[in-house]
Amino acid sequence: MMVQGYHSEIMKIYEATRENERRALEARKNEIEKNHPEIMNLDRQIAKLSIEISLCFIKNKDTVEESVKSLKSKIKDLRARKYELLVANGYDTEYLNLHYKCAKCQDTGYIGIEKCRCYKQKQISLYYRNSDLSESVKENNFSTFKLDYYESHRIGDERYSPRKNMENILEKIQGDYLPNFKTQGDNLLFYGNSGTGKTFLSHCIAKELLDSGNLVVYRTSEDLMKNLKDIRFNNNHALEELLINCDLLIIDDLGAELTSDYYVTELFNFLNLKLLKRNKMIISTNLTLEQLTKCYTERLSSRLFGNFILFKLYSNDIRVKKNLSKISR
Ligand SMILES: [Zn+2]
Repeated sequence: MMVQGYHSEIMKIYEATRENERRALEARKNEIEKNHPEIMNLDRQIAKLSIEISLCFIKNKDTVEESVKSLKSKIKDLRARKYELLVANGYDTEYLNLHYKCAKCQDTGYIGIEKCRCYKQKQISLYYRNSDLSESVKENNFSTFKLDYYESHRIGDERYSPRKNMENILEKIQGDYLPNFKTQGDNLLFYGNSGTGKTFLSHCIAKELLDSGNLVVYRTSEDLMKNLKDIRFNNNHALEELLINCDLLIIDDLGAELTSDYYVTELFNFLNLKLLKRNKMIISTNLTLEQLTKCYTERLSSRLFGNFILFKLYSNDIRVKKNLSKISR
């Protein structure tokens, strides 16, 4: 996806990175020049021979192959001596080379005409600069997820104990949803009482996907409502593009916003467009399925029930609520 404005901002970051690298290399060269001039001498000889190679192609066309071969072998020897000297003096062999943050694209953001993966990650951090998700995923992730907070005995008429239920959900998410994220189009709906870990779980998923270079956008339902208004009334195309085209949109706490007929219609159209484009979503809600139908009309809830994999989260244990809310906000 391409979002106007962000692109030039990202290219500026790459430029600055390359400039920093050039300066850092300059400083390293000055340091070596001062302390080990013999190494810099080798470096200069290598550079000179490299220029001679390119001159070969212009000058003696008959003997070009022979000359290039001999020059290359000289360079190889000099380079080996340079590396030896560097290492002997306690330096890394790469000390006098440019150090790239991303070797794949050499900090240009592109490999050929394809965007590098690091470009996408830069895009994500730009999107999240002013959002609370980058902070919350530091604490809310699978490594801090504690199954012990869920009771191991059955409650109510649920088929599984809360812990077994959560184990099943984690298995589906970690064993299937996340590894196959790129290739399959599953949408997830987490429903259940507040404090059962829905937001926490969606943050865990967000982090995994962000870390693997996916563009994840997190919105509470209330934020989404404001965003959809902004798109409609202020023609905020960049925002629309972001919400529609991101790899995963998480809509948290559906039902907590002040629902209006207007929003229900907008939301319905929005979900339809997302489903049509097969762009993935995770929705979480404290509402029961019956309440969802009541609040959001039959046609909207049938979109949810028909196109999302439903996961019910439950627990009576106050510890879940207490501990999860402690770390989630
Ligand atoms: Zn890169």
